Amino acid sequence: MKSLDDIAAELQGYDPLALHSADVGQFLSRLVHSVTETQQVDIFSALDRVLAQDLISPISVPPHDNSAMDGYAFDGTQLGPDAALTLKVVGTALAGQAWQGAVSAGECLRIMTGAVMPEGLDTVLPQELAGVAGDQITVPANALRRGDNRRLLGEDLLQGSTALQKGEPLTPAALGLIASLGMATVSVMRRLRVAYFSTGNEILSLGEAPREGAVFDSNRYTVFGLLTRLGCEVIDMGVVHDDPVLLEAAFTQAANQADAIITSGGVSVGEADYTKVMMKQLGDVAFWKIAMRPGRPMAVGRINHAVLFGLPGNPVAVIVTFLAFVRPALLQMMGRKPQPQPLLKARSTLAIRKRPGRTEYQRGIVSGTADGSLVVQITGNQGSGVLSSVVQANGLIVLGHAQGNIAAGDEVDVMMFDGVV
Ligand code: AMP
Ligand code: MG
Repeated sequence: MKSLDDIAAELQGYDPLALHSADVGQFLSRLVHSVTETQQVDIFSALDRVLAQDLISPISVPPHDNSAMDGYAFDGTQLGPDAALTLKVVGTALAGQAWQGAVSAGECLRIMTGAVMPEGLDTVLPQELAGVAGDQITVPANALRRGDNRRLLGEDLLQGSTALQKGEPLTPAALGLIASLGMATVSVMRRLRVAYFSTGNEILSLGEAPREGAVFDSNRYTVFGLLTRLGCEVIDMGVVHDDPVLLEAAFTQAANQADAIITSGGVSVGEADYTKVMMKQLGDVAFWKIAMRPGRPMAVGRINHAVLFGLPGNPVAVIVTFLAFVRPALLQMMGRKPQPQPLLKARSTLAIRKRPGRTEYQRGIVSGTADGSLVVQITGNQGSGVLSSVVQANGLIVLGHAQGNIAAGDEVDVMMFDGVV
């Protein structure tokens, strides 16, 4: 396991007090490791889990050539240019029942979608194109090419091929794919355990009586939601007030039980409380100033084997730093295959003030226009405590480090919330 100093030495121009937002990911990817324990789970329990090993297809899907349409199957070598073809119907092939018998030249078989294509037949005329007279059908001239409307054996998956790769998330479509292979259980990474608590003497738990200068703890619930949607096992530790004994007990318990610890509050330079003191005393922790807005201060490191993410206290900064840095690191810890997060391009409807020299994240609402292009409108107040403007937004506009002011109509990058926030 590398110490923070080892990692710092590997990174060109690492400056904890003026860290580029792009360098944070580099640092964190060196700090964290994937869990190694795996579990065999029932397919219904596998949704949103992470596949623990490559899944090799034990069978071909589909297992035989079959019809893609309801219609008439025949030997397509009989198709000629510019000529209709008349065929005699000699039977019916239904899905799930293989047709027994021979189909000769000049003959065809009525066939249903999914029915096995008998030997020698390779083309299906959809029933809506067929001219039918008694037991004869006519294939209109130039209506088909040989091989049309036939699904080939193994066209989805060939026996022995890799159906899914280790580290892939088990989405609804992936569950269907696994089931199509006849598998009822699957090997997944164990869930990541993440403990979290809010710090600060001014933070009230729900149910406490309001008092002057105090605010209700919102970060606890935001972090709970973000972690739960990621599929983590959460260890909720509530609010820990600014008392060295309580903080030490909380950090120690969290480090003993969890793979990662997320705290909010108490990490900025001016903080007078014990949060930073305890982090430093109990772990190997760096205190960063990131060139970004919102979310400048952040503490990162380890307490025993648990990775620590000390997020700023402002509710919007919590969401932004989680999305930009913590989430990719947790995905790596969950065993997810690295995947670049695609940003969407949209034209800003409004001018946006932006200072070069820091990455800015602004809340925006992306929508489509009549011509099919995308536009994004920043939501009103961009203050780092204004949660309501995150709720209105459907993504974060990411304005890069060197970027200056944005004029109305300029194209910007957007990180969509997409069920994450
Ligand atoms: P800090 O990072 O501790 O200086 O906190 C920055 C701001 O965020 C302060 O106004 C805090 O009151 C507020 N804040 C800190 N933690 C929370 C929390 N858990 N819920 C809501 N607001 C918070
Ligand atoms: Mg504070």
